[in-house]
Amino acid sequence: MVQVADRELEMRDIEIPAVGADEGLLRVQACGLCGSDVEQYAGGTVSRGLGSYPMIPGHEPVGVIEAVGAAAGARWGVRVGDRVALEPHLSCGACANCLAGRYHLCRILRPSGISSYGYLPMEFGHGLWGGYASHIHLHPRSVLHRLPDSLPLKLATMYQAIAGGVRWSVYLPETALGDTVLVQGCGQRGLGAVIACREAGVSRIIVTGLARDAFKLDLALALGAQHAIVADREDTVARVLQITGGRGADVVVDLAPGAPQTVSHAIDAVKVGGTVVLAGLKGGRAASIDTDRVIFKEIALRGAFSQGWQAYEQALRILDENRHDLARLKTHEFPLAQAAHAIGILAGDVPGEEGICLSLYP
Ligand SMILES: [Zn+2]
Ligand SMILES: [Zn+2]
Repeated sequence: MVQVADRELEMRDIEIPAVGADEGLLRVQACGLCGSDVEQYAGGTVSRGLGSYPMIPGHEPVGVIEAVGAAAGARWGVRVGDRVALEPHLSCGACANCLAGRYHLCRILRPSGISSYGYLPMEFGHGLWGGYASHIHLHPRSVLHRLPDSLPLKLATMYQAIAGGVRWSVYLPETALGDTVLVQGCGQRGLGAVIACREAGVSRIIVTGLARDAFKLDLALALGAQHAIVADREDTVARVLQITGGRGADVVVDLAPGAPQTVSHAIDAVKVGGTVVLAGLKGGRAASIDTDRVIFKEIALRGAFSQGWQAYEQALRILDENRHDLARLKTHEFPLAQAAHAIGILAGDVPGEEGICLSLYP
């Protein structure tokens, strides 16, 4: 499925290129969708100058190695027939960001635009860069994760949502046993954060969402959050202070999309010396924050973009162990031809449908 314009996908037959010694070919089994797919479909990638049409979307694919060159197979540790999840980012491995472990911020392979599966335009290289397809041609710099044999496909496609929770709510804020964590936003990433916090031994998880997200807030509670705050009906900061005896949360993770005011809620709801992680994109809308409060409270404010190797490995373990009945997050699976419909459900635009984690299969 090729995106040819804003809100326009079309099915095309594209010849699969030959696989060189340093490359591979992935037969896509399924591709997960997230809020970035909604934004990309609406035209956000091109309007922000990060890509151009035509492109094949889909940055959360899992599949089977159909072919692999000798050098690539040795480097990736995979053989034909292995099931893998693909990390979206392509990096050079040699620049300052790569060497510092921030390979997801590498800009060398494509200085303007996103160097990521699902976002590279078809004019770049061989063009088969997206998970909305039967096959992805694997670049030499691809990063793959072997899937545990026992992990069902239905769960495997949620690896990026869970990995986001692991990095943003546990690794980056250095969340510790017994902490109180406020998770702002209850979409797939917010629920991923709830699951990661459970795994990390967080004692109190507080989740916020909107009144229309009632089904997601209910799921957050079922997954082990202790408190759900309806942010458009209640005062989030007052509730958090009440729950924590006036102290505030040890960690606040802002995953709320589009709403800049949640950033100032985070600063008010976090404890003195606490950490706020910002991972919810606001679509370019600037947040107005009281920086004096950040100073007086000595708050650590961290931006978080993407997940990273260790978080993906932990996500696949969590999905495979499945101690939280994670199939509850997987609301829809559609054939590739229904990609636009699936994106509409995820965007909340289809009456009567409540989507959290969705995937497409070719
Ligand atoms: Zn995504
Ligand atoms: Zn690099």
